[in-house]
Amino acid sequence: MRAIQITSTGEPDVMQYTELPDPTPEPGEVVVHVGAAGVNFIDTYQRSGMYELPLPLVLGSEGAGTVVAIGDGVTTVEIGDRVAWCNTLGSYAELVRVRADRLVHVPSDVDDPTAASILLQGITAHYLLDGSAHPEDGDAILVHAGAGGVGLILTQLAKAKGLTVITTVSTDAKAELSAEAGADHVLRYGADLPEKVRALTGELGVAVAYDGVGKDTFELSLAATRVRGMVVLFGAASGPVPPFDLQRLNPAGSLTVTRPTLAHFIADPGEFRWRAGDVMSAVASGAVTVTVGARYALDDAATAHADLQARKTTGSVVLLP
Ligand code: NDP
Repeated sequence: MRAIQITSTGEPDVMQYTELPDPTPEPGEVVVHVGAAGVNFIDTYQRSGMYELPLPLVLGSEGAGTVVAIGDGVTTVEIGDRVAWCNTLGSYAELVRVRADRLVHVPSDVDDPTAASILLQGITAHYLLDGSAHPEDGDAILVHAGAGGVGLILTQLAKAKGLTVITTVSTDAKAELSAEAGADHVLRYGADLPEKVRALTGELGVAVAYDGVGKDTFELSLAATRVRGMVVLFGAASGPVPPFDLQRLNPAGSLTVTRPTLAHFIADPGEFRWRAGDVMSAVASGAVTVTVGARYALDDAATAHADLQARKTTGSVVLLP
């Protein structure tokens, strides 16, 4: 099979389009013919070495496709079933081994590029709203990178919960997309952001600031959050947040800061099925629209990473093997 492998970490050009042996399923696993692989920011952290993994490594954690082989003991899927998965390395490939209990069936009217864009970003949005934090009907939240993959889904799920959503974006086109997803107020980054957020929230600040941008926005997030509110730092698109003095949370308003990761919210198979089922059915029913903002051929993975990191993309990004 053809796959995108790295043998060293670094810039996008470390990704090699290469021929590897076809995988065979171990007990409890299936092999899937990949129809589309999701490109997520975490893939860039793994490629660059910011997140360390053993090498060589086939990149990619998410995808959708058709089951072509089944290992011993698998009873939940059959050959020919259309499925999607996340948190499974090796997805930038024509074939991938996936644990059967990590699979979700894909409804017939959801195509592979869309299905490959739902789980990782969708379950993240789901646990951010009902896991890391629990904002309630009427609360205001701040969502950085509102036109990104997670940002667009998080905005839609938050509106469905009755929240007031304030987003940040960098361009007019992204502002339009974020507003279309339902954001009540779309702002630009900048030192005056906390002041603008306070003006929109009766001078209180937001109940929860969702920050996947990191280094460039963390201070703004703290300053835009209300007394006893929470900052959920869930990513580092602009780089990691430097070490932080916890004492600062006291005068800032007895704030809570958390730094969650998806794996801890889907480790239990029942919780995975609940969250995955919720987001898959929200997309299938039309309650949530997934925007596939860019598609690249598998051998063009380096361009996909460069574009994602250069803030050129909106919504989700997929590779087509
Ligand atoms: P996005 O599609 O949101 O892309 C990142 C966006 O961040 C860019 O489009 C850009 O939007 C914004 N951004 C702001 N500053 C920078 C910068 N200096 N460089 C690059 N981008 C910047 O990506 P994803 O939806 O894949 O992921 C969003 C975040 O969520 C990432 O940090 C990712 O790691 C995190 N994540 C965390 C998970 C978890 O469980 N903790 C799971 C999934 C994702 P704009 O131009 O509008 O500013």
